[in-house]
Amino acid sequence: MNYEKKRKEMVKHLISEGRIYSEAVISAFGNVPREVFVPVSQKLSAYVDTPLSIGEGQTISAPHMVAIMVEALDLKDGLNVLEVGAGSGYHAAIVGHLIKPSGHLYSIERISSLANRARENIRKVGLEDNVTIIEADGSLGLESHAPYDRIFVTCASPGIPPPFVKQLKEGGQLLIPSGSSYVSDLLLVTKKGGEIDEKNLGGCAFVPLRGRYGFK
Ligand code: SAM
Repeated sequence: MNYEKKRKEMVKHLISEGRIYSEAVISAFGNVPREVFVPVSQKLSAYVDTPLSIGEGQTISAPHMVAIMVEALDLKDGLNVLEVGAGSGYHAAIVGHLIKPSGHLYSIERISSLANRARENIRKVGLEDNVTIIEADGSLGLESHAPYDRIFVTCASPGIPPPFVKQLKEGGQLLIPSGSSYVSDLLLVTKKGGEIDEKNLGGCAFVPLRGRYGFK
């Protein structure tokens, strides 16, 4: 399998669909090898624009979904960022590319085996200086490295957990699928003067957020 060729084709597809348009985002998608982040049994499908199983009943998001979320957040060098739902670590690697060399992404995963694999994957693609994978309940956010310029959640949440708003910087942005598990709206929340401003970016489907502020 010529992964490089397949990756170029995926980038072309995402551009033609209008999913990626910023130079930096196009470069990140062209540089992160998605085949590293999928299980051996899924390697042949690594560049199909679809979610794939990563075990434990969880998925790596479809490239177009990662694209929509990354383009929505204006990610750049120096930002302090939190991800809830590391999964395979692929989305984290794309973000790591966009915020390096001086930014940092803390990415939380509640399932131990996935957190360990995501950490290994991040190391394989050489982004360990900019991306830290932490095993914890991400519905609580991560107080120890707050406040964040950006927080993004890659699982469906029953509303907006209060710790996320609290841990955002003034002017910071939170991107979160909110609604029932599996069918939700992608909300872009901006913190302004202690208040929040919500914009609905459209429908999406994610596995559920579990934990203290998640689904039971
Ligand atoms: N961003 C991932 C990637 O690039 O592969 C895909 C994430 S997958 C759609 C959602 C992940 O959220 C799953 O791995 C799941 O275990 C995790 N998750 C669910 N509830 C969580 C919680 N409370 N804290 C941390 N992770 C959680």
